[in-house]
Amino acid sequence: MLHEDTQDRLIGRCRQLLRFVLPVECLSCGHSLSTDPIPFFCAACWRSIRPLQQPVCVRCDQPFISTAATTYAPNHQCQQCQEQPPNFQRAWTLFPYLPPLRDAICAFKYRGKLTLARPLAQLMINALPHGLDADVIIPVPLHPARLRTREFNQSLLLADQLGRHLSLPVSATNLVRTAVTDPQTALSRQARLRNLRNTFTIRRPQDLAEQRILLVDDVFTTGTTLNECAKTLRKAGSGPVFALTLARTVETDLVPDRFFAEQAGRPLTTLGI
Ligand SMILES: [Zn+2]
Ligand SMILES: [Zn+2]
Repeated sequence: MLHEDTQDRLIGRCRQLLRFVLPVECLSCGHSLSTDPIPFFCAACWRSIRPLQQPVCVRCDQPFISTAATTYAPNHQCQQCQEQPPNFQRAWTLFPYLPPLRDAICAFKYRGKLTLARPLAQLMINALPHGLDADVIIPVPLHPARLRTREFNQSLLLADQLGRHLSLPVSATNLVRTAVTDPQTALSRQARLRNLRNTFTIRRPQDLAEQRILLVDDVFTTGTTLNECAKTLRKAGSGPVFALTLARTVETDLVPDRFFAEQAGRPLTTLGI
């Protein structure tokens, strides 16, 4: 069995050779790829994936428009968290869901580019928040029908890499999705909540007793899916639930960086997650 680093180097060399024979363009900017280490993306695009640098809600990571929100109250929570506290203790949503990350997640999730699992998980690992502590990682599950058509659960692939890095077990069969839901796209908040009600169930509650759970998903849109998962886990007797997502949809007026705003170009659409 080859060491992982050696495997990576070999795969990288094969990729370079293949690109020489069969030129590949960066999915984000269209430049031809040569020695770029990430599949389907040039190094410059990949380097441009950065977290938002602005104050956020300490519960759900919602960015605040103004820095004044947290100047005198560093533990300030957004209006939604104050009015209806979520079932998760804390959600970390690491990067804004903007190109090129958005391109990468779409290629990974909808076009089956599974070689992106490791670099995407590596982004999460590089940006892991301080104070993250859990006993078990649980990926947000797909319904078996959707799993059959997509053939893989993108959240499980990310969770698997995180589990290896954090030396934490990954439980992929205890929290299950029992109902096929309409895509969350274009639904109002109330409709989203109705759509997801009683969607998740726990198969072995005894395994969760007092366990601190880290839920993992690819994109945080409104948080209703994660909140519903956390509610199901808490009801079944788990300890506190934390959530970690690779990306978060953000309104473009919340993105101060001109580069990001220009790349986005239009208000972000949400995906059915
Ligand atoms: Zn590029
Ligand atoms: Zn909040």
